[in-house]
Amino acid sequence: MGDTLLQHYRNFNIIIAVMINLDAVYSAKLKEGGLSNTIPRRTVFTLLRGADHKPLTMNELIRLASSDCDRASVYRAVEALEKAGIIHKVHYGWKYRLELSEDFHGHHHHIACSNCAKIVAIESSSLLENALHELAATKDFSLTEHSVELRGLCGNCQSKNP
Ligand SMILES: [Zn+2]
Ligand SMILES: [Zn+2]
Ligand SMILES: [Zn+2]
Repeated sequence: MGDTLLQHYRNFNIIIAVMINLDAVYSAKLKEGGLSNTIPRRTVFTLLRGADHKPLTMNELIRLASSDCDRASVYRAVEALEKAGIIHKVHYGWKYRLELSEDFHGHHHHIACSNCAKIVAIESSSLLENALHELAATKDFSLTEHSVELRGLCGNCQSKNP
């Protein structure tokens, strides 16, 4: 990654506009996947929708859902919703967090703090997206998907660990 691209990253605004009706997308994708809207599925969807672009760990999701469903139901709901393309797993190394799929949020990346594990959504840019397509093309690949993991120290941790 060149200096210009890194500089570009530092200047990003972390704002992702939601201009679509998330409930309508949810209903349409459930239907498309042949799934009914069970209580655990609805609970998981509602929690992820309310997470405000902060992907949740499975444990966080289970804890937040605990008044409505048990652990096994949450696991099953996540599995079904992932298959239906409603949930997306954000991978960090061998761990992952859960969020709504790009059909709800649009395409974006994330940056995670390696000290406190804070994770935020980060807008992509046509500069980066084009660079990835060009990179793939150098190996004669047509890029169909990608995930970019960014790590660093968040502002809070930078001031604590100068
Ligand atoms: Zn931090
Ligand atoms: Zn996200
Ligand atoms: Zn991207």
